Amino acid sequence: MPTYQSWGRYPAASPTGVLPVVWRSDPPALDRVPGPVLAYACGRSYGDSCLNDGGTLLDVRRLDRLIALDEEAGLLRCEAGATLAAILDVIVPRGWFLPVVPGTRWVSVGGAIANDIHGKNHHRAGTFGRHVTCLELARSSGERIVCTPDEPLFQATVGGLGLTGLILWAELRLKRVPGAGISQERIRFPSLEAFFDLATEDDAYEYTVAWVDCLAGGSRLGRGIYLRGDHAPLDAPHASPLDATRLRVPVEAPAGLINRLTMRAFNEAYYRRQFRRRQWEIVPYAPFFFPLDAVGDWTRLYGPGGFLQYQCAVPDAPAGGPIRSILERISRSNEPACLGVLKRFGDARSPGWLSFPRKGITLAVDFPFRGPRTLTLLDELDAVVRDAGGAVYPAKDARMSAASFSAFFPAAPRLESQRDPKYSSSFWRRVHAA
Ligand SMILES: Cc1cc2nc3c(=O)[nH]c(=O)nc-3n(C[C@H](O)[C@H](O)[C@H](O)COP(=O)(O)OP(=O)(O)OC[C@H]3O[C@@H](n4cnc5c(N)ncnc54)[C@H](O)[C@@H]3O)c2cc1C
Repeated sequence: MPTYQSWGRYPAASPTGVLPVVWRSDPPALDRVPGPVLAYACGRSYGDSCLNDGGTLLDVRRLDRLIALDEEAGLLRCEAGATLAAILDVIVPRGWFLPVVPGTRWVSVGGAIANDIHGKNHHRAGTFGRHVTCLELARSSGERIVCTPDEPLFQATVGGLGLTGLILWAELRLKRVPGAGISQERIRFPSLEAFFDLATEDDAYEYTVAWVDCLAGGSRLGRGIYLRGDHAPLDAPHASPLDATRLRVPVEAPAGLINRLTMRAFNEAYYRRQFRRRQWEIVPYAPFFFPLDAVGDWTRLYGPGGFLQYQCAVPDAPAGGPIRSILERISRSNEPACLGVLKRFGDARSPGWLSFPRKGITLAVDFPFRGPRTLTLLDELDAVVRDAGGAVYPAKDARMSAASFSAFFPAAPRLESQRDPKYSSSFWRRVHAA
């Protein structure tokens, strides 16, 4: 059996069976399948929300056909296993783009709905689920239900962690773009205060995000590189997003390769990599949106223990408030925090009851998994997020407690009321442990 793991390779999980799903006209009958089931698509969730230890996975990667493109209305209908890469390959040369894309193009439409993903344009466009006009669900009872945004089952399914049944297909509202380029500006900023100053200009740009040096402390706390951009024509032949990745990490790095020393050196070099403080250019859309896709198997750099990504969203506050406190705790800790990302979320409401994004600031950081000391730090960060009234992103999580989950997502009992009784995940069982 192929391995079914999550992106962070932590925790390990073993499904007892895997059922491929190939035809939307013929979803698998589940009445004889023992134990809980869960759809598994590209496995780009970092923790255990795509895992079903001791249960059955429905592998939807071959349920990936594009069904119809209405170019008058800008509507695309596709099967749920279609990847964003495959969709972009077809729509960008026709002058269309997906309304929301995450930091990798190797994500399925079903996964994008189940986690109600967000992108660099959250402050303008909100989440992926806001742009889904309808979808079809196969329930374990054999029922097939087409639902629209005004219905409870749709609202439970968007951000519903794959627990309301199997999404067979969805219809998405696309957006017109002038070409395959992005007019991009990169600005080096020296501190968290400077980040907040730049973020006040966010509304003038479609896409904004910042890389942040999570190991810098003192007056350099929160320093980083701000990236902002808008769609633009590109004077170059269409580069397919399906093209093979050019670089690859060939082997698992030894444990400990990523440590505070190597990360400090990397962060310093990355912070200084651009000669001028501000740099402007037109770039193809793929390196702008999906820089990590350029290196295959990069997660091997974290070594055999895998890694955790911590992503939280907290309300904006004077002088940085909870985000400052979180960055201070990370920079003071002994953990080699990597790849920090800061972004301001807007206030566009998602239809999804359990959608993660909320108005304020989001921070995402990778931590090589080093056992209890990593977990202790993340528990400490949870407490800050809880006190601030924020939340931690389930798509990235492998360890939050049941108590934290119910504080972050008070609507969880509503999702439980719409959950298909046959569907569950390692994540759901963990956050419902007594
Ligand atoms: C490098 C990288 C960058 C990322 N950047 C972002 C980002 O910027 N913003 C963001 O929001 N996320 C981001 N993510 C996370 C990723 O977008 C989500 O975890 C996404 O849900 C993964 O989709 P997937 O197709 O891999 O689904 P999986 O990880 O396989 O599954 C995710 C969930 O979707 C459910 N699911 C999948 N298919 C179906 C279906 N057909 N029917 C019902 N349920 C289904 C699964 O049961 C599971 O609960 C990033 C991930 C990576 C690896």
